[in-house]
Amino acid sequence: MKDGALALHGGVPTRDKFLPYARQSISEADIAAVARVLRSDFLTTGPEVSGLESKLCEITGAKYAAAVSNGTAALHLACMALGIGEGDEVIVSSITFAASSNCVLYCGGTPMFADISTDTWNLDPRSVERLITSRTKAVVAVDFTGRPAVTDELSALCKKRGIALIEDAAHSLGSSYRGRSVGQLADITTLSFHPVKTVTAGEGGAVLCGDRELHERVLLLRGHGITRDGEKLYNKENGDWYYEQQLLGYNYRISDFQCALCASQLDRLGLFADKRRELTRFYDAEFSGSELLSLPAEDEDCDTVRHLYPICLQTAKLRADRREIYAALKAENIGVNVHYIPVYLMPFYRSLGYERGLCPNAEALHNGLITLPLFYDMSIQDARDVVTAVKKILNFYAI
Ligand SMILES: *Cc1c(COP(=O)(O)O)cnc(C)c1O
Repeated sequence: MKDGALALHGGVPTRDKFLPYARQSISEADIAAVARVLRSDFLTTGPEVSGLESKLCEITGAKYAAAVSNGTAALHLACMALGIGEGDEVIVSSITFAASSNCVLYCGGTPMFADISTDTWNLDPRSVERLITSRTKAVVAVDFTGRPAVTDELSALCKKRGIALIEDAAHSLGSSYRGRSVGQLADITTLSFHPVKTVTAGEGGAVLCGDRELHERVLLLRGHGITRDGEKLYNKENGDWYYEQQLLGYNYRISDFQCALCASQLDRLGLFADKRRELTRFYDAEFSGSELLSLPAEDEDCDTVRHLYPICLQTAKLRADRREIYAALKAENIGVNVHYIPVYLMPFYRSLGYERGLCPNAEALHNGLITLPLFYDMSIQDARDVVTAVKKILNFYAI
């Protein structure tokens, strides 16, 4: 076999050992934190839940935080707390995970998919503006890859039109925009603590906001719509065993040992963020200027902690499509992924009547996207292997 042949064609892979695209980092302190809770009186709805909530407020500067069972539940509660229902339209990013728009459907609302900007790869405020009607109740802006999508332009637009702004910040814990942390930018911000995200609880999420009433509605809906708070009871004549279900809520509680894990992880958020910034800088330096791929434009307004590092292949300059290049990277033992397929192209959304061509920028971007490995426990040498494999493959296929 000729030296330098692609592993896909029988050559020697760039790495002996497979490098995943994402992986959690669990320390002995994390393990001890969980073990301590397992020996305590509370497994759920104990002190670790409010402990995590306080810590999230401290870190993000949000006024209120509610820890919940996962990021999808957080989005559902955000929509419910805002009163989204039948007949309401909610404008959603098209390049995102399905949860960002499923939450609208859970409430009986209609997701309206907005296109992305080819610069930021985030929601394009001009596309949002075009979709606003008298039925528009909210916007779900996704901080794709970790870059804040809630810019002053988007906030001003929503404010002017009286539309609530939900920030799906599943990717962006630790990022900030013009000196304000994610958690302070939108009316409601949702987080996810799934293992691939920057910090994990196993499963978990949170709803952050600055409005007391909104926060109390989230808390009520998190626990079946039940309250025991004497101040809030409709019927105050009963004993202290008494509680009332006042709304149709859910069980979106998170357990204490999950919160302990998440709080312990947050102690390393600074380290996690620094490493993600270092790896991102390394990739950026290696890839910027390449004709064969594109990256999102830089933005001096954002201090972004990247959750994902996608590149977009310039397929017109390559003799192979994304599918072949993806397979070639896997063969080199580089874990890759694709984030995301425009949500409305999913068979379920197609069955609701959404059609191909709805968001041309999102569809064009999607066709070239490949997510490269980015996680705390990978080394610069690992990143160097990724760069070597990408360059080897793209140079091979270059026209
Ligand atoms: C992970 C993710 C979610 C959902 O979070 P879960 O905790 O898995 O429910 C929502 N939106 C985006 C953009 C995500 O990446």
